[in-house]
Amino acid sequence: MHSSPLRPDSILGKSFQCQCGSTHLVPIKAIIYSDDAYYQMTDILGREISGRTATMLSDQRTYDIAGSKIMEILKQCGWSVESIVVPDKATLPPRCDDVTLKNLMSRSGSPDVFLAVGTGVINDLTKWLSFEKNTPYVAVATAGTMNGYTSANVAPSINGVKQIVRAHTPIAVFAMPSVIEKAPFHLIASGLGDVVAKSVSGADWKMNHYLFEEYFCTFCAEIISNIEPLYFNHPERIARRDPQGIKAIFDALTYSGLAMTMIGTSAPASGGEHLFSHTLDMMSSVDGIPHDLHGRQVGLGTIFAAALYERLRAIESPRFFDLPDTIDKPFWGKLAGPVSEQYAAKQPHLMQMRDRLSDSAQWNRFRETVFSSAISPERIANCLYSAGAARFVNDIGCSVQRAKMAIVHMHEIRKRCTVVDLAWMVGILPDAVDEIMEQWLVRPQ
Ligand SMILES: [Zn+2]
Ligand SMILES: [Zn+2]
Repeated sequence: MHSSPLRPDSILGKSFQCQCGSTHLVPIKAIIYSDDAYYQMTDILGREISGRTATMLSDQRTYDIAGSKIMEILKQCGWSVESIVVPDKATLPPRCDDVTLKNLMSRSGSPDVFLAVGTGVINDLTKWLSFEKNTPYVAVATAGTMNGYTSANVAPSINGVKQIVRAHTPIAVFAMPSVIEKAPFHLIASGLGDVVAKSVSGADWKMNHYLFEEYFCTFCAEIISNIEPLYFNHPERIARRDPQGIKAIFDALTYSGLAMTMIGTSAPASGGEHLFSHTLDMMSSVDGIPHDLHGRQVGLGTIFAAALYERLRAIESPRFFDLPDTIDKPFWGKLAGPVSEQYAAKQPHLMQMRDRLSDSAQWNRFRETVFSSAISPERIANCLYSAGAARFVNDIGCSVQRAKMAIVHMHEIRKRCTVVDLAWMVGILPDAVDEIMEQWLVRPQ
């Protein structure tokens, strides 16, 4: 007998027994996407927070579009609110790094609650700061651009190296549709790039479950399956900022963040496709050449990873190759140390993968179980293109040569196995890299 599927919005603030056998805890009490979201915030804060002092972080743009209004509403309800507008760095937006955190630690006092008004960096900084101060925070989303509103992770640079810090989730997330729909289009398109990734990351998660018994939860893996048709079938709605299309991206982002929170890792939302974006960011920290937004890079990584799955699916009896046992140290420069560690930690898994899949019965079972869930590169590319998102490497301000460098080095940065490692193992990479890029990522002349 099947019980009816859980709706993601019915699990907020609860601990529940999941079909995967685990008890999942969702610490976020509410996700409010509504025109009166900021008014609902005062009710929820009144219930959840005992004092009446708040420190609000924003940047100048998000202060203007949401922060000032929120301050006004909270003050009317008896709150005392201190506003910190995090300044831009020269012409660049604020950064989430140890230097900025230290500065905020000394400036931000001891409020009863922190408010993050903004997207990636502001949300990350507030999450990190409030965690360090052992104080709750709420997130006010100003664009559907990344899944960090509902996740516990922060991705700061510490001593110049990009890291993942496990902090805490907000107690609630608030968004006004009118603000989210009017966000700069590159932010909306970035959100779409980050959510289409699930079509590949889900298959990679299954791969790790199948080969290495990595913990897997169907509910978390499929948490956005009902939302996906809204943007895959009607990407043009995103291009014209149709409210339903924009809300679909917002929901997909917040729910995939919830899945990461429940599982405690990024497995539900991040696989081989994300390596492309992380590698471009890391290359940028080595040579100073700027990179684009996370989701815009991830969208292209997803097209590429889906193309790898398509090629793998077609292989009936693979030949396995040995992978190089060290990384390309000169390429990684100052990051060679941490990258080497990740790559070395992966070696036993790579050997195990090759041993298991060399057996042809195993290979066939693996193909059926894992490859069936990855969708075609064409569907992903069409979705991004029709939505007006980044579709070709030059859309993200990256040369074909630089994108190729990222692709042939991206398997080195993480110890977890992905479709990219498998593609190396059966000889698709590096041999077919030019061909795949030409076919999928380079804009036709
Ligand atoms: Zn579960
Ligand atoms: Zn992402």
